[in-house]
Amino acid sequence: MRVFVASLATETNTFSPLFVDRRAFEEAFYCSPGNHPPTPTLCSAPVVAARRRSEADGFTLIEGTATWAEPAGLVSREAYESLRDEILDQLKAAMPVDVALFGLHGAMVARDYDDCEGDLLERAREIVGPDCVIGAELDMHCHLTPKRVAAADVLLTFKEFPHIDFLDRAEDLVDLCLRAARSEVKPVSAVFDCRSLSGFMTSIEPGRGFVDRIMAREGRDGILSISVAHGFQAADVYDVGTKVLVIADGEENRMKAAALAEALGHEILGWHRTAPGPYHYTPEEAIAQARAEPGQPIVFADRWDNPGGGVAGDSTVMIETLLKHPDLPAAIGALWDPVAVSLCRAAGIGARIPLRFCGKATPQSGSPIDAEVVVRGVSDELVIPFEESIVSLGPAAAITIGELDIVLVNGRAQTFSPPAFTQLGIDLARKKIVVVKSSNHFYAAFAPIAAKVHYLNTGGPYPYDATKVEYRKVRRPLAPLDPHPWL
Ligand SMILES: [Zn+2]
Repeated sequence: MRVFVASLATETNTFSPLFVDRRAFEEAFYCSPGNHPPTPTLCSAPVVAARRRSEADGFTLIEGTATWAEPAGLVSREAYESLRDEILDQLKAAMPVDVALFGLHGAMVARDYDDCEGDLLERAREIVGPDCVIGAELDMHCHLTPKRVAAADVLLTFKEFPHIDFLDRAEDLVDLCLRAARSEVKPVSAVFDCRSLSGFMTSIEPGRGFVDRIMAREGRDGILSISVAHGFQAADVYDVGTKVLVIADGEENRMKAAALAEALGHEILGWHRTAPGPYHYTPEEAIAQARAEPGQPIVFADRWDNPGGGVAGDSTVMIETLLKHPDLPAAIGALWDPVAVSLCRAAGIGARIPLRFCGKATPQSGSPIDAEVVVRGVSDELVIPFEESIVSLGPAAAITIGELDIVLVNGRAQTFSPPAFTQLGIDLARKKIVVVKSSNHFYAAFAPIAAKVHYLNTGGPYPYDATKVEYRKVRRPLAPLDPHPWL
């Protein structure tokens, strides 16, 4: 048994002004063949899962390149084609292989390529032929295009949002593909298109119970795998939207898979009426809520300025509000401003300096803040955990304005866990309110130290209200842009 594995991933917000070249991949995460670390990253977990399994099973594993760029805007054509061809050349050199595994995100858009992953998997199929098993792990925020479903034997997505299960799902992928290669199962895929943008969280109901039930359903009665692709609404591509993918064992179970995918899709659509998702506080409402609520810290997620959604993460809207409440012990981070970080590091810990910082990326990101700040902490590299993976936010600085501590970073990445603050000397237990730049991946690490977790709406710059976005390419009708065709 010969198995190939590689990873190529980013999440493209086609409305973002931040562009991605090859250097963005190389600076964020790039491993040449054989040099992937022993710990997984969000989208390269199949490399680690396949490596661990090969040690137990004794098959030959051929590793290709594994790379990731922080979510941003369009990927350059040169960057995508050069990384794609690098991996496909490695696959050609590895032939013959029985299994080809890919760690993808599934929402990469490059100039002239609206479906990068479909293109990659289709070209991989041309190389390996019809008998090789092709499998890929996708982020649930992917575009589940027919092209990629046709090219691969096994596609599966993370089930959890926050994505705490990326390694578990990679292990599922490796296991299912090996069983298919050994002819123990014959994966057959059925997709149900919800014709809707219907993302949900699994840290709260009804998503929590839904995922528990679909996991209990897998491995029984001819059903091998169930995935919900939530889609990524910050992308103007034809296949955006929520789709349910069920993989059954054998042609005889295809109709059962299709029926199950449709039933699950209708269940998700039903939540529009019964479970509209968590309340999003305005900045002033958040302050009032933090003051009113017992205990501390009260953690608020600045959901629509989350670098993980392809935006800059330099919005000052909440900082402007916090500065109007100078008595309130508060912390906010991590905001992206490489220039301010450089100035603070040069000034040194303890320095009191005039500083202009953040609020530069878009008109929805607020205005730059001008203030006299004290440099409270600096770091040559701020490294924080996200589940089993290690994430670098690059050089960083913590600055203090009265009772407010602010974390500034050189590397754009979301605030996955409390060490983003504590490693710079900020004691979160002393804060009444803590604001994190993350949509929901912060949840697993912050909930245990929070008196309460809430969600904040600072007005962007992420295009959170799909009805106000000028989509040109998406297939219509698509709720909530249009009345839902069935509801
Ligand atoms: Zn995601």
